[in-house]
Amino acid sequence: MPNDKLDLIFPVPVFHEKIWGGRKLETDFGYQIPDGPIGECWAISAHPNGDCPIAEGAWAGHTLSDLWDNHHELFAGAEGDRFPLLIKILDARDNLSVQVHPDDAYAAEHENGSLGKRECWYVLGAEPGTRIIIGQRAHDREELAAMIAEGRWDDMLNYVPCNAGDFFRIEPGTVHAIMGGTEILETQQSSDVTYRVYDFDRRQADGSTRPLHIQQSLDVVDYAAQAPTSGEVTAVEKDGVTDLMDCPNFTVERVRVDGKKVLDAPWSFLCCSVIEGEGTAVDAAAGVAHPVAKGSHFLVPAGSGALTLEGKMTLITSHLPL
Ligand code: ZN
Repeated sequence: MPNDKLDLIFPVPVFHEKIWGGRKLETDFGYQIPDGPIGECWAISAHPNGDCPIAEGAWAGHTLSDLWDNHHELFAGAEGDRFPLLIKILDARDNLSVQVHPDDAYAAEHENGSLGKRECWYVLGAEPGTRIIIGQRAHDREELAAMIAEGRWDDMLNYVPCNAGDFFRIEPGTVHAIMGGTEILETQQSSDVTYRVYDFDRRQADGSTRPLHIQQSLDVVDYAAQAPTSGEVTAVEKDGVTDLMDCPNFTVERVRVDGKKVLDAPWSFLCCSVIEGEGTAVDAAAGVAHPVAKGSHFLVPAGSGALTLEGKMTLITSHLPL
């Protein structure tokens, strides 16, 4: 018997206006977005700052956080008091602020029990010559404080070339900034805690500047971390699947489909984002073939059995560590 409660779940994205945002979420991805500079599409999110509603299927009318709290069988085996992941697409027309995120321990103590934020970026598009900032060059807190106070940004910040198809891991404590001309799919812990180190002295529409968080930044920067020099993906693709990142918070993979591809379901749930092409997605328990295309995001719930993808498309998937 098909079970529609175990069908694929399609959250409705939540959009956020940002000073650095553009219009590509509409022109490149086909989303209906509000007016203004829209920087972020929260595609799979149960975070209170953007809790995706479900519009169709057995769970229509629920939000993702509601499913986590009240229908946890859909995430069987996943622990924790909140849905742990957040999948975003970012359209950076202009530079994001230079920022750093805390780890779980610091966020729990200083940010009302929030999660810390480990994140990673799959670059969907980049204008020629684009670079991004990952890592900083101060050796200790004192040196970093001096570089910030004196505005020695070129000495302090590590720039890396950024091309479509690159992948970057951003550990907690890593200074980073996405730069203008970049579209990114971000997989991250479900957290919205950002410490802004530098905002390019920008003013908002009302003339004000956005707040900086220098003391917190100095607290959380990992002074021993090695900054990367490239985001080129060197992992070997096996049967269409490339491992992009394994860490204590999530596993991220790129899945290329050309024809038919069946993914077994050892995970508690799977987040899927189609970043190129089109096709269909169907899980074994529900048996409903959903048309999907670039810009589609869906969750495969626990107990749904194997996921069958057909067509010509590329996806980024994420799940909790097995
Ligand atoms: Zn960040």
